Amino acid sequence: MSRTVYVNGEYMPEEDARISIFDRGFLMADGVYEVTSVLGGKLVDFDGHAARLSRSLAELDMKQPISHEELLAAHRELVTRNGIDEGLVYLQVTRGNPGDRDFAFPDPDETTGTVVMFTQSKPGLAKSPAAKIGLKVISIPDLRWHRRDIKTVQLLYPSMGKMAALAAGADDAWFIEDGKVTEGTSNNAYIVKDGKIITRELSHDILHGITRAAVLRFAAEAQMVVEERSFTLAEAQAADEAFVTSATAFVMPVVEIDGAPIGAGAPGPMAARLREIYIEESLKAAI
Ligand code: PLP
Repeated sequence: MSRTVYVNGEYMPEEDARISIFDRGFLMADGVYEVTSVLGGKLVDFDGHAARLSRSLAELDMKQPISHEELLAAHRELVTRNGIDEGLVYLQVTRGNPGDRDFAFPDPDETTGTVVMFTQSKPGLAKSPAAKIGLKVISIPDLRWHRRDIKTVQLLYPSMGKMAALAAGADDAWFIEDGKVTEGTSNNAYIVKDGKIITRELSHDILHGITRAAVLRFAAEAQMVVEERSFTLAEAQAADEAFVTSATAFVMPVVEIDGAPIGAGAPGPMAARLREIYIEESLKAAI
C-alpha cells in the first residue's frame, strides 16, 4: 500500500516523491537524519531527536530548514495519514541542490536544504519477540570516520557490518577501536557486571543516543549504578549481561558476542527491567 510521504513542505504519495540527482545528499552523503519511534500513535522523545537534528546541522554548517513546530506538526501529520500505531518516522535533511556537483559547500545562507520524511509501520515493536531471545553480535573493526556524534547518512560501513553479522549467522555487529567497544552498527552498547551498568562515555567516538540518555536517566532513578567508560571485548564476553539501545530497538538484550555466551546465554534481568521501564515511561511521555 502506498504511503504518504513528506518532501519539502508537501505531502504526496511515495510514488510521486522526487529529489534531484544533483542533491548533495545523493552525491556526497551530505545529509543528516533522525528516527523517532511511534508507540500508541504518539512520538517517543521527539524533543530529543529534534535537538540532536539541530546539533548535527550546526556541526556541518547547514541551516535549520524547518522550525521545531513545523517538524512536530509534520511528524504527527504523517503518523495520522499513514495510520501508524507502532513504528517510526524517518527524517532526512540534506544540503540540497544548489547547482552542479562540487566538493566545495555552497553558501549556507543561499542554500535551501532538502527535507524528506516517511513512516514505517512496525506492529509489535514494543512486544518484540527478539527481546525475549536476545541478539547475537560479532565484533568488527571500527572503520568509520571520527565524527560519529553527528548523525550523518554515511551508513555504508555500518551496513557492511550488518551484512557481515548476518553472513556469520549473527544479528548485529559491535565496532572495536583501540581494543575497546565503541557501539553497535545502529545502537549504543552496554554491559552489566556485578550489578553495575557500563557504557562508553559520550565523545566524538559514538552517537549520543537519545534512547541512551533516557535509559541512563531511568536507571539512575531506579537506583541502578551506572559507570560511563569504555570496555574491552574480553570484558564484554565475561560480563553478566549485555544489551543495546536505540530508538526502534528500545532496550534489546545481547546474549552472545563472537560465539561466547554472555552470562547464562539468555536475556538478563537488568536489561529486561530497563526495557520494561523504558517502554512504560515512553508511552506515558509520548506526544
Ligand atoms: N549509535 C548509532 C551508530 C546509531 O546509528 C544509533 C541509532 O541509529 C544509535 C547509536 C542509537 O541512537 P538513538 O537511541 O538516538 O536511536
